[in-house]
Amino acid sequence: MITNTNINNKKNINNISNFIGVQNPVREFKSNQNCLRISSLGGFGDVTQNMFVYEFIPNGDATKSQIIIVDCGVGFPEEDAFGVDLQIPDTQYLADKKDRILGIFITHGHEDHIGAVRFILPILGQNIPIFAPKLAAAFIESRLAEVNIRVNLTVYQDSIPIQKGVFTVDPIRVTHSIPDTFHFAITTPAGIFYHGSDFKFDVFPLDGKGADFAHIARIGEQKVMALMSDSLGADKEGWSPSESSIAENFRYEITSAKGRVFVTSISSNIIRWSQAIEYAKGVGRKIVIVGFSVDKAINIAKDLGYLTLTDSDIIPPERTKNFPDNKLIFLVAGFAGQPDSALGKMVMGKHRIKIKSGDKVIFSSPDYIPGTTSNIYTMIDTLSKMGAEVVYGEKEELHVSGHGYQKEHALLINLLKPKYLLPIGGNFRHLKCYQGVAEKLGYSEDKIILPDFDASVNFYSNGTYDTNFHIPIRKILIDGFGIGDVGTTVLRDRKLLAEDGMFSVVLLMNKETGKLEKDPVILSRGFVFVKENTDLISYLKQEVVNKFNEATSTPANFEFIREEIQAHIEEIIYQKTGRQPMVLPLVIEV
Ligand SMILES: [Zn+2]
Repeated sequence: MITNTNINNKKNINNISNFIGVQNPVREFKSNQNCLRISSLGGFGDVTQNMFVYEFIPNGDATKSQIIIVDCGVGFPEEDAFGVDLQIPDTQYLADKKDRILGIFITHGHEDHIGAVRFILPILGQNIPIFAPKLAAAFIESRLAEVNIRVNLTVYQDSIPIQKGVFTVDPIRVTHSIPDTFHFAITTPAGIFYHGSDFKFDVFPLDGKGADFAHIARIGEQKVMALMSDSLGADKEGWSPSESSIAENFRYEITSAKGRVFVTSISSNIIRWSQAIEYAKGVGRKIVIVGFSVDKAINIAKDLGYLTLTDSDIIPPERTKNFPDNKLIFLVAGFAGQPDSALGKMVMGKHRIKIKSGDKVIFSSPDYIPGTTSNIYTMIDTLSKMGAEVVYGEKEELHVSGHGYQKEHALLINLLKPKYLLPIGGNFRHLKCYQGVAEKLGYSEDKIILPDFDASVNFYSNGTYDTNFHIPIRKILIDGFGIGDVGTTVLRDRKLLAEDGMFSVVLLMNKETGKLEKDPVILSRGFVFVKENTDLISYLKQEVVNKFNEATSTPANFEFIREEIQAHIEEIIYQKTGRQPMVLPLVIEV
């Protein structure tokens, strides 16, 4: 189920003016120059839900624009437990431009860059070609196969440009915390734009595939209009440590363990799985993969040759009893402390495999997912109490960031020498730090663009830009990540009840006629006291009746009516009170 929730009331006001802007986009142009408009459908100043629109507008005529999209990722709402809800970019801006979308170009296989394809492709059109590097393409394909979506997917090759309409997209290899990560040099009639998504410059990469500095330098010899750059590591001085710098520590933790070893990370962390498998095999441990997402990712990586694993290396979870503890390593889903993950269930004793004293659990969490820290620490505490040794994070030097620090940003800027800088992929504090780096390199404030959350950046062919145009960006939440998973639902319900209470409405209706038999009955617990809020309650009651009349039919569809009322009441309660109680409409046949 997809629900739209406005972020806050202030945003609503902004949105109203944005919609006005959208209705008359042509009027935004003071000249009839060629223009390249860059919009972020996940909003500027956000780390996740990456989705950028590059729109070429010829002679100021927005009705004749051509569009490519870079990345299509999910977000992880900070206020909710990870794994309960996902957020996706808002594609409303593209609603009347679908036939002008020439392709979606994927930079790498992290969820915040590919995870929204399965939701957004059906909205924008399944024929839109997708271009992705090998590993990301395999992830996308397997994900879409699960939901029966056919996809027009092409694997692009390093340094082989792709031509789409007026755009030429040239993929440039860089390094990150997942193999097969690319930047794009995007050539348009309005100039060259360098899309520098997530990267670091790991000069000792474990797979031997470093960033293609020569290629970047060649792009820099041409006139680059703007560099859109990852900025997440811009608040850290110096150079980010190499993946190989932690290899020895990680190997030691695995090879020195006396009992069973559990390693948990995000499923796409192929580099870490590959290391874990290599080190464990080196000391004769068998590999046990637990968790659907991890199993799938490892199998894809194995098939593509990113890690070496034979059938005899693996044993299924149910056969582990036949092996001594020091001959086993478990690769487990649950890095974020999700109670419903394989690791979460093991901790709670709800899994075939149970944690026991003497086990060692190694957490290797990625650095881009917010809102997970407290869950992780809760799980670490519980594991420790159970007698397990827990190894986690930068403390043990078992984790390095996948994002470049200040010197790496300085290097990229120096190689490209762009006219403008547009930092992306960071929160405002990272953007400000990026600005600091750029200023040290001689960039004046007017050359460093920090657009509003919902602004687009228009670059004109005379070399100027503005950020006057705004697009509508709502918060689009995906509910039902754990479909059929009672644990998740219960957890979320409990959280909702604890925070904002419950609002329930009972409707007695005649199924044949589709009419209400009685006035709705309102029940409220922990939300507002009914007797003291008669105005609000009677207003809500009237809204329930209005929505009911709108949604009903003969004969009536109970489920549809229920969903319509629920969505409507949730929205108006939020508008009126800023609260989000659990809304439970009960439609009863009489
Ligand atoms: Zn990434």
